[in-house]
Amino acid sequence: MRCDLITIFPEFFAGPLEHGIVRRARETGLVEVQIQDLRVFTKDRHRSVDDRPFGGGEGMVLKPDPLFEAAEALLGYSMGNADKKVLPQPSTAIVLMSAAGRLFRQETARRYAKLDRIIFLCGRYEGVDERVAQHLATEEISIGDFVLSGGELPAMLVIDAVTRLLPGALGNEASSQNESFSEDDTNGAEKALEAEIAKFRRDPSTSAAFSRYSRSLSESLSLERGLLDFPHYTRPAEYRGWNVPEVLLSGNHQQVRQWRREMALQKTLRNRPDLLQSALFGKVTQTLSES
Ligand code: SAH
Repeated sequence: MRCDLITIFPEFFAGPLEHGIVRRARETGLVEVQIQDLRVFTKDRHRSVDDRPFGGGEGMVLKPDPLFEAAEALLGYSMGNADKKVLPQPSTAIVLMSAAGRLFRQETARRYAKLDRIIFLCGRYEGVDERVAQHLATEEISIGDFVLSGGELPAMLVIDAVTRLLPGALGNEASSQNESFSEDDTNGAEKALEAEIAKFRRDPSTSAAFSRYSRSLSESLSLERGLLDFPHYTRPAEYRGWNVPEVLLSGNHQQVRQWRREMALQKTLRNRPDLLQSALFGKVTQTLSES
């Protein structure tokens, strides 16, 4: 996979790209990361990338032309104009980092990990001329409900999340399948989730949908892709009087698995009840819409 970062701060990425999994993935050629200085694509003496907002107001806005031209130089073709717009190949994404974008999630990372190429557009100041979002970017992505001062950290965060999903990036293949938000259900708290589902099944407003769905209940149980990871422990077994849970020292793999499932569910209920609700709600909605 190839990632390009278009930024006014090319030096920004020196640190983050040089450590751990991302560094190794670059060294082994799993991912190639190129940094493109936006100012190269300015034409005036001051190399201005920004200008005042039309309509007035605070701050400066990144101009569209350097961003279009930087992306086109990387792609090797023009994105067209209002008369004829050119879309990049489906295996290429042009991602505008934006506080007003769609939320980046693990499923976004999984989708990106299948692409050949991602071009990241890093905003600054008050943001980016909207024509970039509309006619250059293939998507506008936010990393959370807060406002940062630039798109560099968000883009780096996305690169990190995507890189570790590339086959071969992690030393131990299994480890990305068995963690928070993983698609797989090895992490799942099936039993406890089944109890939640049973509640929905008893509820008159959703029971009909569920009975229609009961044939594939086992499938619906793998919906816990929204569960958080279970807690991890390592040596020492006792630290300042805090002990590692007994079951983890027992050597009983089945009990360990069960404990981890329960803990994952408890943690999700405690820290992110919205994940459980939305997983269940999504399934109910899907079932209702199919009926
Ligand atoms: N005025 C904008 C914020 C601009 S912040 C607004 O209120 O939405 C400057 C740049 O930082 C943005 O263009 C974007 O590239 C980046 N940025 C800030 N917060 C972000 C977030 N939560 N996710 C992704 N990018 C973000």
